[in-house]
Amino acid sequence: MAEIAEKLSIRCWLCGKPVEIKFSAKEKPYLVCDTRSGGCGMQTFLREPKAIQLLQNRVKGDMQCE
Ligand SMILES: [Zn+2]
Repeated sequence: MAEIAEKLSIRCWLCGKPVEIKFSAKEKPYLVCDTRSGGCGMQTFLREPKAIQLLQNRVKGDMQCE
């Protein structure tokens, strides 16, 4: 998990706003699209290793694009 422990963001799959990646007490990542910064309130919780790996791949891809 160290690779994505930094403050990273990804685009909301629903509204397209940047979404900060947070971590639960069990160090599982989750996404919250913050309504205070214009987001839609979407929440996604990633618990499976496959989902976490896909998230890591997605974060790398976003950084290459921008
Ligand atoms: Zn959103």
